Amino acid sequence: MRDPFSAFDLPDALLRGLDKLGFNEPTPVQRQVIPLANAGADLLVTAATGTGKTLAFLLPMLRRFLATPAPRKGIRALILVPTRELAYQIQDHFLQVASFTRLTAGVIVGGVAASHQVNALRRNPDILIATPGRLLDHLERGATDLGDLEFLVLDEADRMLDMGFAPDVMEIIQTCNEERQSLLFSATLSRGGLQSFIDAALRDPHRVQVDSHRAAHPDVRHRRLLADDLEHKHRLLLAYLTQGEGEAAGKILIFTNTRERATALGNFLMGNGQRAASLHGELDQPERVRVLNLLREGRIRVLIATDVAARGLDVPGMDLVINFDVPRSGSDYLHRTGRTGRAGAVGLAITLVSPPEWNRMESIERYLQLDLQPLTLPGLEGRFRGPSPSRSAGKKPQPKVLTAPTAKAPKVKDRHRDRKNIGKRRQPSAPTATAGAEAGFAPLKRQPEPGKGQP
Ligand code: ADP
Ligand code: MG
Repeated sequence: MRDPFSAFDLPDALLRGLDKLGFNEPTPVQRQVIPLANAGADLLVTAATGTGKTLAFLLPMLRRFLATPAPRKGIRALILVPTRELAYQIQDHFLQVASFTRLTAGVIVGGVAASHQVNALRRNPDILIATPGRLLDHLERGATDLGDLEFLVLDEADRMLDMGFAPDVMEIIQTCNEERQSLLFSATLSRGGLQSFIDAALRDPHRVQVDSHRAAHPDVRHRRLLADDLEHKHRLLLAYLTQGEGEAAGKILIFTNTRERATALGNFLMGNGQRAASLHGELDQPERVRVLNLLREGRIRVLIATDVAARGLDVPGMDLVINFDVPRSGSDYLHRTGRTGRAGAVGLAITLVSPPEWNRMESIERYLQLDLQPLTLPGLEGRFRGPSPSRSAGKKPQPKVLTAPTAKAPKVKDRHRDRKNIGKRRQPSAPTATAGAEAGFAPLKRQPEPGKGQP
């Protein structure tokens, strides 16, 4: 054992929890973050998905809470996350690693009844794991407060920005105890708006960077499959899934750029005998859990999702990720393809590229310094073979940098006004985004998250 967890001065109870999980060696991000966090530093951490960030913040937090009994009554740590799934995944990690302690955690997310949450909040769990929208509702109603907070974690901060949570997150930060330690995690630092989180939440943060955000996962083979049009894509996909490599693959995640296409593709695949289901941001929580369980149990093998729906998903053992549509940005490409090839296994990512998508695919390749290997299915080649040499010869590769999908740019105006109204109830028409249906909070009806309605 090269560098065991015991080097981090963790109490026995946590070492036993890690043992139970079968983890005996920290990941690189854990190795870097835990000692700094133990020393009390505020941290700004960038690391790709699947690198073990959850324990990187849970372990120092739990260590501190076990060493010093709660000084006051309130919530000791808040973990803000962009999606419900991610909240439940973190709770899972907590339940396992803290199973030999008496520490408690509560989850506050949209899409479930608020009344149960109020009861859970009354019991003042040590740790609260929450999506911003619903937590803000509870804060505004006085169901809980963050005045005793010792730890604040912003997990997947870039995704929270993508999903339009910036105003809510900023409001929440303002209500947190100032005497706290804060850790911010993001897959990238290039997302516009991140600086305001950093300024508001962190004090003299240390920077921890594991992997450049542009580094594609080293254990993924990237390939492209040219298609003439949508109908050709359908034929190619079905053929691939039912022959050779594709047939042999276990769990497969297919991305589309819009919800409508996800649903249509799901219907097409099911109609052609594939065990498939589509997942989109609109499904309510029980439905999402049900679909994910079908996949985990192997009752379906193909899951079709949009970028929004797939955020924070952690389904182990994805063998293959297929981009049915070329993603909108390099970071979306990384997030999508980072879902295969986890934990030492080599994964495969295939992107279907039609003529109008060619340029976008090229700029993603340039941006990520990736070279997608061509894949052809004998007998199913189309007319499209990439741009003609004469055209591409005259076109110098531009050092164009892909940034966050511009369509999801946060609305600064709304944010400013919201911030001025801290503590006041929002009007029913307040254009604030939250995660998912706010069941149980009928009086304060909010608009759906911005990413959801988008293609
Ligand atoms: P991230 O938040 O960086 O995307 P997670 O914290 O969700 O990553 O961890 C990704 C996966 O790796 C999870 O399934 C987690 O249980 C596993 N994992 C985390 N730390 C370790 C470790 N030290 N050893 C082995 N597996 C780990
Ligand atoms: Mg994570």
